[in-house]
Amino acid sequence: RHSARSPRKQQRHHTMPQGPFASAAGVGRAEPEWAALNKVTGVCGVDSQHAGGVTTDAPIDLGPEVMSGDLSGLADKEFDLLIVGAGLSGAVLAERCSKELGMSSLILDCRDHIGGNCYDYIDEHGIRASKYGAHLFHTKFERVWDYVQQFSEWLPFDHRVKGRVPDKDGVKQLVPIPPTQDTVNTLFGANVHSEAEMQAWYDKERVAPPSGEATNGEEAALSRVGKSLYEPIFKHYTKKQWDKYPEELDASVLMRLPCRTSTDDRYFGDEYQALPLRGYTRIFENMLLDNPAISIRLNVDFFKAREAGLLPKFGMLVYTGQIDSYYAQLGMPKLEYRSLRFEEEWVPEPDDGFFQEAMVVNYPSPDVPFTRIVEYKHVPNQSEAVKAGKVKGTLLAREYSSAEGDPYYPVPNPANHALYEKYRALAEKEEGVCFVGRLASYKYFNMDQAILNALEIYDNMKETGKLAPKRRPEDFGPGDGPK
Ligand code: UDP
Repeated sequence: RHSARSPRKQQRHHTMPQGPFASAAGVGRAEPEWAALNKVTGVCGVDSQHAGGVTTDAPIDLGPEVMSGDLSGLADKEFDLLIVGAGLSGAVLAERCSKELGMSSLILDCRDHIGGNCYDYIDEHGIRASKYGAHLFHTKFERVWDYVQQFSEWLPFDHRVKGRVPDKDGVKQLVPIPPTQDTVNTLFGANVHSEAEMQAWYDKERVAPPSGEATNGEEAALSRVGKSLYEPIFKHYTKKQWDKYPEELDASVLMRLPCRTSTDDRYFGDEYQALPLRGYTRIFENMLLDNPAISIRLNVDFFKAREAGLLPKFGMLVYTGQIDSYYAQLGMPKLEYRSLRFEEEWVPEPDDGFFQEAMVVNYPSPDVPFTRIVEYKHVPNQSEAVKAGKVKGTLLAREYSSAEGDPYYPVPNPANHALYEKYRALAEKEEGVCFVGRLASYKYFNMDQAILNALEIYDNMKETGKLAPKRRPEDFGPGDGPK
């Protein structure tokens, strides 16, 4: 499986306070039967910054020039690529085009850091936290897995989510999400103890979509899990997350969640599931820093800089922002995006060191305003201070969904797709501009899909000299498909 470039796996030992989120297979691992399905078996990959002597756990200081928001020092330079956005799509294109094709890039971002929504940092208490919500890397694409191992060391991690879900008597129970045998036994006393029994339980519960195929999120969920699970786990969570009921959303949104007949309580079914040992920001640092062909300027609003004539000369534009912002001056209706708001809480003295039973606990009921609570301390890629047991407290992030704020999610439904198609038609006619990524393609890409999409755009650059996608975003499949 491993290509010549692929770093060799090395077994190393990292200690971590034993939390309630451990299994017989270790911290952050599922029970051995399911953990064995993860092809990531030990620490692997290369962190060049670390290998080169960088010892900090926190994001690397990028220096005053990068942070300045000032493009004047670049006025007489010329770049092959001007890349708007320092997230996954922009970083992959800058890295590939410089390493393989000798092209130069200038990356601009209006934020004060690289990494886009993957950005994580060390908070004042010494805990590694994600500024824009927890990110869990998983992929079935070997190409993506081989690629990301060049920019980080990785730890195997089987992401498992619990939900506080009302049972048949309305009493909230802690159960695995996606639903497993445990979930239906705890909520409904289903007394299911084999895959065949669980299959029979689903067969009784499932509601076939009227037209044969699910045409919206509600039909998708009902056809997969039936009404008893749909109501307490999916219906209101979805309303809270999207401010739309599942019937107002594409089937693909609800298809993101697997549905299990086994006791497999992992959130994802992909072959490779791992955490970057020193956080996600480090991946970007290894991709972008110390490369003379890549320049970065943060705190720069691309549109304002362009308007003011401050941009240096460039060959092609790679735009990873919202596609409707690019065409704002046309006065067309805006695309709908969903944002998140995080309410952080520091718990100084949690019992046994932890606040909750898992890294992510979902709250799918309508009586709780947030969708989930993330407790960062549970992950085995925590800071050195946490791993050494020096951090007594624990940091929580309660996640609220909102219409206002930075765009996180495109809202997939027929009306939004139709509007996006109008923007896409404009984008296709745009010479010398490549629209790429979750916001520019208006596609609910997972991290690995965003990386693969950018890698394929680079392939086209290499093969044809044009930055163009190899397939349309929807050809990456609906969400993850059944996991
Ligand atoms: N979902 C749900 N209940 C849950 C978890 C997820 O109804 O407890 C639905 C909801 O519509 C959500 C979608 O499944 O938006 C995708 O969930 P996922 O965890 O993949 O979303 P993300 O992590 O991308 O926010």
